Formats: sequence, structure tokens, C-alpha cells
Amino acid sequence: MPSERCWVEVDLHALRDNLSWLRHRVGAERKIITVVKADAYGHGLREIAGCLMQSGTDMLGVANLQEGLRVKRVGPGWPVLILGASLNDELRPAIQENIMLTASSVTELRQIEDQAASMALKAGIHLKLDTGMGRLGLLLSDLDEALAFLKQSRWLGFCGFFTHFSSAESDPAWTATQWDCFQSGVKKVRKAFGTMADGGPWIHAANSAGLLLEEHYLADAVRPGLLVYGLLPQAQCEPSADWAPRLRPVLSWKARLTLVRMVPPGTSISYGRSFVTPRPMRVGVVSAGYGDGYPRAAGEGGCVLIQGHRVPIIGRITMDQMMVDLGELDVRPGEEVFLMGGEGEQAIQASELARQAGTIPWEILTGISYRVRRHYLGGTAS
Ligand SMILES: *Cc1c(COP(=O)(O)O)cnc(C)c1O
Repeated sequence: MPSERCWVEVDLHALRDNLSWLRHRVGAERKIITVVKADAYGHGLREIAGCLMQSGTDMLGVANLQEGLRVKRVGPGWPVLILGASLNDELRPAIQENIMLTASSVTELRQIEDQAASMALKAGIHLKLDTGMGRLGLLLSDLDEALAFLKQSRWLGFCGFFTHFSSAESDPAWTATQWDCFQSGVKKVRKAFGTMADGGPWIHAANSAGLLLEEHYLADAVRPGLLVYGLLPQAQCEPSADWAPRLRPVLSWKARLTLVRMVPPGTSISYGRSFVTPRPMRVGVVSAGYGDGYPRAAGEGGCVLIQGHRVPIIGRITMDQMMVDLGELDVRPGEEVFLMGGEGEQAIQASELARQAGTIPWEILTGISYRVRRHYLGGTAS
């Protein structure tokens, strides 16, 4: 098989180890809802979901019905929660497949109830409270009505009560305000329902950053995404230092040197001629560009890793290729290039690439395009 030009390596050992560490930190009695939306943050939903199921996740969180159905194909018995709002015509297949739904209003509860009743199937619900994210969830003032509706409902199973932090990595005080509001909601839920025989409804709030912030934010269940993939959210409040050495990035992103050219001083490099060689230079052409999801904005001042050395990108990133200044490196076409990842001190972290591109690691990971094949190391799951 010919060499690949741009690919991703997904280390399933690292994934398992990250989940074990998370399990150790949150305790055996808490539930872990691993978040696998957006193709498991670009890692590949099928393989990641399979591996997480084998490694003891309690539930999987997805963005929408399509993702939920894909997870059910991997492990039909595994609890799955759609974290987003569902469209009316998505309710039926979700209920059919026993995928749990997020509800943000009494109107939605009513629609789900009607649909479930017409199918004579029970629908699992996680009720969401908006405590300051301003996206999904009902307001505290509307909670009583929703709880009353759930209480009399025949076809809705009240499986969870949750909220989402908007600024856990940057604003602990605001997060505490959100948490207080959530606790007011939790009190109402407990008053109306107590703790049910199955331990539910699960109370959950913490995403990755929230999970690092305060022990009590762990509640009954946590919803980590980024941490599962071995990355720490860029926290302004230094997270407990013991996390960093315990997590390993699951994904590395590679390409190849396709050409090495010696060019004279005054050679302009790439579109727009933003870079002109100040001296004779060995220029490498790398087989990756923004068509693979490499952020065009990371070109200026960015670098790649070749044979453990940081090599600066020169000129603009193009759709399929980018140029680098090879300096004295003794390398030939075919050589592997790390766009992200690598071993030791010089490794290029997702957070660094994100900073370089003026964005966040989540966007970098989910931006790696369909053209980039994902390869799985450490045993195939599912
Ligand atoms: C994406 C998402 C998460 C996971 O967020 P991370 O910051 O990656 O841990 C948790 N909860 C909800 C509702 C989400 O949408």
C-alpha cells in the first residue's frame, strides 16, 4: 500500500489509561458519561465508543440522534444521552432505540410524552436547567411546572437532571454562581422525587474544566470530553497538578515531507509572497494543508516536528501543502512530520496549535477533515 500523505494515529492504550485515571479520581460510585460527540472529537466515533465501552464508561454523551444511533450500533445495550435538543421527527427513532433525550421545556416534555405514548414505550429524559450557559435548559422559575409534568407522566422516565457550565476554565466565581442555582434546582427535584429505586435521577454538571475545579461539582455523574482524549482545558485556575502527568493525548497527527528544495535568497514562498527567503534555504514541502483541517491561521509563527526537531512553517498554509524551513536537518522526502503530537519536550500539544491558530483545542480536533485517515494503535475495539 502506498504511504499515506496525512493521517491520524489514535492510541487506544492512552484512551483506556485516561479513563482509568478518571475513574480513579471520581470514584467507583460516580457515573462517567464520556462525551463522544463530533465523531468522538475527531478521533472516530465507532472505535472510540467501542473502546470506552470495554473500558467501563457508564454512559455515552452525543450531540444528536445520528451520533446516538451510531453508538447504539457499536453497543446496543449501552446507555446513550443526546445532549442537544431534538427535533420533533427525531423523537420516534430515539425512543425506539432507547436513546435518552435532553429536555429544556415543558413543551418538549409534552412532545416526547405524546410520541412515547403513541409507541407505548417509555422515553428516558434528562431534564436540563439553564444556570448561565444561555443555550439549552429551562429557567429555575419554570422548574416546578416541569417537575409536576414529569410526576404525572406515564411515558417519561426521569433519568437525569443536569446543567452546563459556561466558563469553568476561566471564571470560578461565575461557575460557583451557576452551581448555587443548580443546587436550588436539585433541592426541588429531590423534594418532588426523592431518590428513586434505581438511584436516579442522576445529578450532573461537570464538563472537563468543571471536573478539575471543585470536588463537589462531581455530583452523581461527570461529563468529560477533552480529558478523556488526554487533554487539559486551558485553565486559568491551575488544575490539580497531578492530572497533567496522568493524561496522555490520544491523537497524533502526521504528514510527510514530499520534496526538499534548496532555494536562493530572495525566493518568495507560497501564496501572497508573505515570506521571502533572507538567505539560501533548504525548504521542505509537507503533505498537509487546510484541506486536511490544519488551521491556516497557525501558519504564521507555527512549526511542525521532524525527527524530534521543531521546524518553522514558512509562507502561507495552502489547501494541500505547506512549506517549512528545514535548516540543517538531514532529511529526505518520505520523512514523517508531526503536525501535532510527538514525544518528549518538543511535542506539539493541541493546546499549543490552538493558541497559534487563535482558537481552542476542541476546534482543532474536530476540524481534522474527512480526508485524514484515522489509524488505531493498541488493539482495535468493537
Ligand atoms: C461537549 C459537552 C461536554 C464535554 O465538554 P468538555 O469540555 O470537552 O469536557 C459536557 N457536557 C455537555 C453538555 C457538552 O455539550
